[in-house]
Amino acid sequence: MPEGQKEGAAGAKPKSARAKSADGAGKSRYDFVEGDRYAPAPESSDHVSLRDSYQLFIGGEWVRAPRRIETINPATGEVLAEVGEAGPRMVDRAVAAARQAYEKTWSEMPGRERGKYLFRLARLIQERAREFAVVETMDGGKPIRESRDIDLPLVAAHFFYYAGWADKLDYAFPGRRARPLGVVGQVIPWNFPLLMAAWKLAPALACGNTVVLKPAETTPLTALKLAELIEEAGFPPGVVNVITGAGKTGQNLVRHPDVDKVAFTGSTAVGKLIQKDLAGTGRRFTLELGGKAANIIFDDAPVNQAVEGIVNGIFFNQGHVCCAGSRLFVQEGIADTVVRKLKRRMETLVLGDPLDKNTDVGAINSQEQLERIRVLVDSGREEGARCWQSGQKLPRKGFWFKPTIFTECAQSHGIVQKEIFGPVLAIQTFRTPEEAVEKANNTPYGLSGGVWTDKGSKIFKITSQIRAGVLWANTFNKFDPASPFGGYKESGIGREGGLQGLAPYVELR
Ligand code: NAD
Repeated sequence: MPEGQKEGAAGAKPKSARAKSADGAGKSRYDFVEGDRYAPAPESSDHVSLRDSYQLFIGGEWVRAPRRIETINPATGEVLAEVGEAGPRMVDRAVAAARQAYEKTWSEMPGRERGKYLFRLARLIQERAREFAVVETMDGGKPIRESRDIDLPLVAAHFFYYAGWADKLDYAFPGRRARPLGVVGQVIPWNFPLLMAAWKLAPALACGNTVVLKPAETTPLTALKLAELIEEAGFPPGVVNVITGAGKTGQNLVRHPDVDKVAFTGSTAVGKLIQKDLAGTGRRFTLELGGKAANIIFDDAPVNQAVEGIVNGIFFNQGHVCCAGSRLFVQEGIADTVVRKLKRRMETLVLGDPLDKNTDVGAINSQEQLERIRVLVDSGREEGARCWQSGQKLPRKGFWFKPTIFTECAQSHGIVQKEIFGPVLAIQTFRTPEEAVEKANNTPYGLSGGVWTDKGSKIFKITSQIRAGVLWANTFNKFDPASPFGGYKESGIGREGGLQGLAPYVELR
């Protein structure tokens, strides 16, 4: 890091005004550092409808929770809105509403009718995609290019995909009869707030379950706006309930005795707590947890393409990605070339206003996450790995961290073993394919991985030896609703997406 530059949060005082991204003159209103390569191209937030205060969505009504929490824009520190914090009584009420909707309407409704609601919701999402993308970026800090071109299209695609399955469950499970499970409690993280909501809601609803969804405390807004669309789509009251709050609210939901199935996406630490909570209850659960993916570059790989894949693997969404390629293994003969090209590419990344369409690297989601990244990066330096950061200037307000790489890493280093969940890459070298596989598998996680080589046979050989749920070859971070996603080992239990994503939401008779 250049002298005098500090990563991080400048103590911007939250204001209770709603954030706007740009003035009419095309110049950011905030004090973002302007790059010298492109003129600012901020996406307007004038068209966004955001309330100052949101209630809980329970039984088709907006219910006020007495306790309130604020959600801020991590790029500016400004308060965007306040939302309710659901206590045990509100959790009870939401579960009861979901139970009633399950018994009275949703589970008995023919699949083709349920599918119509889901198709309607998917179309409404497409119509409002621009607005939702802006809110996702403001609440979470991710670049608008990503929310607009990746999150929102995938959200709509997920609802379309599972809408199609709603009346075809007999074909999904030939010779068996698929029955819904009942009330599902779903708890999601902050890195892909709306996409995680879609991954959870779409298959559960298609199968005839009703849902209580709890979004993460730092990014509740798109889930609440989704509840508005669910209302607009005319879903029967109680089929989907959205309650906001922090970990305690999530805990009350997953422990609720009338919840038949729990679907959780979040950290491995919390996943383990939930597994303990549910042990012996007979209730079903799926856990989508952390990761520490190996991205393996062989010396016959197309190097420039691989460098793009490395950048996408670790700097997409500031590295707040469970399947991020956070461990890089480069074959020794090309290691110097790859690292040199990677550094040069990192210098070209545009870091700043997440609402600017040029931005590649947005804000870190919260002060807490920024602290966690700093602690782990400091530990990497202390353990003897060599740290290099690109030279972008950091905005003065909000939470930021520079794209960072470590070389000279050992397998035992904390930065190699622990999920950092930030724009930080640990680089190691290998000589033989066997060594690459051994190092790649030396992790408690098993969510994803990538292999870069010119040889198709090597792709099949290596990917079959890596213990990870999702593996990409000569690409990275590609998602499709028809493709299952999930991990081995401490990365979780169960699959979401595709035909496999239906199975956790049905009982087969
Ligand atoms: P987190 O575990 O801290 O929180 C996730 C959610 O759980 C939040 O809504 C939180 O309020 C809630 N929660 C916290 N404590 C709880 C408890 N005791 N009982 C029930 N709910 C509780 O995770 P995070 O920091 O929000 O998200 C980052 C983590 O999510 C990373 O580890 C990442 O790898 C993981 N993740 C995994 C996937 C996947 O598909 N495998 C996808 C996205 C994120």
